[in-house]
Amino acid sequence: MSEAATAERLPLEAEQDPPNSAGLSAQQIDALNAEFADLHFEERIRRLYDHFAVDKVLVTSSFAATSAYFLHIIHRIRADQRVAFIDTGYHFQQTLEYKDYLSQLYGLEVFALKAEDWKHQFTVDDHTWEKNPDFCCSINKVEPLEAVKPNYHVWVSSLMGWQTDNRSDMQIFEVRRGILKFNPMIDVSREQRDAYIAEHELPFHPLVAEGYQSIGCTHCTVKGDGRSGRWAGKPKTECGLHL
Ligand code: SF4
Repeated sequence: MSEAATAERLPLEAEQDPPNSAGLSAQQIDALNAEFADLHFEERIRRLYDHFAVDKVLVTSSFAATSAYFLHIIHRIRADQRVAFIDTGYHFQQTLEYKDYLSQLYGLEVFALKAEDWKHQFTVDDHTWEKNPDFCCSINKVEPLEAVKPNYHVWVSSLMGWQTDNRSDMQIFEVRRGILKFNPMIDVSREQRDAYIAEHELPFHPLVAEGYQSIGCTHCTVKGDGRSGRWAGKPKTECGLHL
């Protein structure tokens, strides 16, 4: 976090709060939430960089159905922001092509986060996604992200409250598993998102035209409305990254 900006805007850190990536107290996080509450989501993202250096901001993208929405906004506001792609090894070929297309279109510097080879291979041999998808997601998504979290102060998400019950009560700033998360779009409605996509004529993932509305790994994605096509037939609704 930019020390000068923090010192000006926020009270001193309280010693009794559990540690988090940004070293902020609960009181300081409340102050950030109050400051950002009434801002438009684009202004929130712009202002984030008043508080945090760009190389301490983690942006991830799954290059899924409507990822162009978030990436278009990030690119317009902060063109030098690098983007992490959590490469599970189980993506559709179309996802990899969409990643390359958007990277070129917006001039994004994208880098991959992957499980260690032997761990990923274990899930390949074990078909872990069938018998224990939480464990499979833990190995291929959560662990690779956890490994780089210490390098960052804040993690920006594109989560919107209407997407799942779990997301509906998230704050703009909150600490999850030790990292400060920034959810600038948490109160953006589906209609607002769709209006932005239409206005800017953003390209969807190619599988959207085939009936997929939410796109993850090949083993755990089928056609369907909203997120109904993710882990269909299983109680799982989240990959674990945002829990
Ligand atoms: S979405 Fe499915 S295949 Fe992908 S990491 Fe999770 S369980 Fe494994």
